[in-house]
Amino acid sequence: MNSKALGGLDIGSLRACNLALITKWWWRYKDDTEGIWKKVITCIYGDQGGLGVTIPLGKRNTVWGRITNVCKDLEPFNIDLNTLFYRRNDYGGNSNGSKWCWSLDASGDFTVSSLRKEIDKSFLESTNTPTVWTNIVPGKINIFIWRARLGRLPTRANLARRGVGIPSTLCPMCNAFEENEDHIFKYCSTTRELGALLRLWWKDALNENDSLDNLIGVNSIHKKRQQKEIYHGCDL
Ligand SMILES: [Zn+2]
Repeated sequence: MNSKALGGLDIGSLRACNLALITKWWWRYKDDTEGIWKKVITCIYGDQGGLGVTIPLGKRNTVWGRITNVCKDLEPFNIDLNTLFYRRNDYGGNSNGSKWCWSLDASGDFTVSSLRKEIDKSFLESTNTPTVWTNIVPGKINIFIWRARLGRLPTRANLARRGVGIPSTLCPMCNAFEENEDHIFKYCSTTRELGALLRLWWKDALNENDSLDNLIGVNSIHKKRQQKEIYHGCDL
């Protein structure tokens, strides 16, 4: 799943993790200036250790051969390692005044997380609605709201749409309308009564329950981060 800013839960894909960890060997090779292992690789695979160039067929199935080939695995994600790694010549920390840098991290150093995010961004589902998350309530409640906002709760309407055999799609609380996210959180008579009690409890600080975002306090009037989080956590 994508980052919370893009509507996900910050759980990256295993494929992205694997590719990013392999790519880290590119960084180790480029960043190392005097390691013996690097000299051995250079002797076997040629200048730049065969990174970013086509290595001879017989060497492609070796462990290092597969590491050099990770750039091909990244092509479907529109990621070009030969562009992302760049040589910075005004770097003073190196004996010859230059250093390899990585474009996706502000520090200039390669990070697995930066590449993971870039890979995930290119193929994982994302939305323009950032995930609402607060640490003062259990994770399962945050996840429940995340699913509700995406319309992915196991409501009777959703279950029927997925082909699950259920006797009725009507709301079990009022037995009058189809049970979907809108009905549960906005229109059901039971929910509205509950909302009225909540507003009473909160002394009208809660907005009228005209949308799920209002109900969970996304549009909270509280501007201070902590105040907003407490308010928001109680809503959840
Ligand atoms: Zn109902």
